[in-house]
Amino acid sequence: MKSDIKSLSPTDLEAYFASIGERPFRAEQVFRWLHDCATAFSEMTNLSEALRQRLSDEFYISAPEMLQKQASKIDGTVKYLWRFDDGNSIESVLMEYEHGLTVCISTQVGCRMGCAFCASTIGGLERNLAASEMLDQILFSQRDAGKRISNVVLMGIGEPLDNFENVMKFLELATHPLGLNIGTRHISLSTCGIVEKIDKMAELDIKSTLAVSLHAPDDETRSRLMPINSSGGVAELFSACERYFAATGRRVTYEYAMIGGVNDYSWQAELLADRLAHSGSHLNLILLNEVPERGFAPCGKASFDAFTRVLKDRGVNYTLRRRLGGDIDAACGQLRQRKGMA
Ligand code: SAH
Repeated sequence: MKSDIKSLSPTDLEAYFASIGERPFRAEQVFRWLHDCATAFSEMTNLSEALRQRLSDEFYISAPEMLQKQASKIDGTVKYLWRFDDGNSIESVLMEYEHGLTVCISTQVGCRMGCAFCASTIGGLERNLAASEMLDQILFSQRDAGKRISNVVLMGIGEPLDNFENVMKFLELATHPLGLNIGTRHISLSTCGIVEKIDKMAELDIKSTLAVSLHAPDDETRSRLMPINSSGGVAELFSACERYFAATGRRVTYEYAMIGGVNDYSWQAELLADRLAHSGSHLNLILLNEVPERGFAPCGKASFDAFTRVLKDRGVNYTLRRRLGGDIDAACGQLRQRKGMA
């Protein structure tokens, strides 16, 4: 079986070239080609014919096919549907902000976290994405856009910390100066809160932006919405976030999708404030996007106003996240794995 060359870092490639008696600078040459969207070894014209042949005998170059591209008429947000060689497909979303072009990428085909309000988990988990397949979503949407992507959010389909090794490798590749060279802090990783993996990120001193999907400050509500909560509960999650801040110097951002009659009560805003007021942490409020199969509704204006009044009065640092790509089902929690699209 051939190996996945695009999941290798320059250091990995150097080790490979040393093992076949090639000079170390080949690593940089090949890495640059791959991150320049080369899809065949025959394009790598600064390598000898023999070396190109050897590489294509041992490796394959991942390159997804663009099955579909939809552009929002409201805000220009673009949703891509990509198909990988094994027939699985996932989505990415390209958004234009004042600070530049941001791509929201998927990290798994499907998801097994089972959050009650989310579309991505409906069919369960099919498989993890390789580091190369996460990188491809940036490389090929950037090529299609014809403009540099400066920010990346791991907030598409899947739970990044449930695919830990590949996601860590992806971060190494995407931030590498010989490749896309995306700033570490310009990458946000969003998690439903797998505590031992947050601790692992702290240990590895990963300084990307860590966003935690909180969605409720009390265990009863959070466990109802997110099965992951039943392991250590909210208290253990907040402790892990504090340990992460202590180790990396980077404060965690919390995500909170407001759901009518579930997590939009003033007493919950008070509890949130007990945790977050004057902590320097940022709270991102999102209005729940309706997923027809899920049976939850976004919160109404009156409860939203009452909720945010408490946050304001108590000194919680929060923003309401803009809803982008609403007309093309590209908004938070609406991405889903498409099967049999071939
Ligand atoms: N698995 C990761 C990242 C993917 S989801 C995580 O849980 O964080 C990206 C964000 O969208 C998460 O905050 C998730 O909770 C949120 N989300 C999921 N379904 C949603 C919906 N229907 N409306 C609004 N946000 C939703």
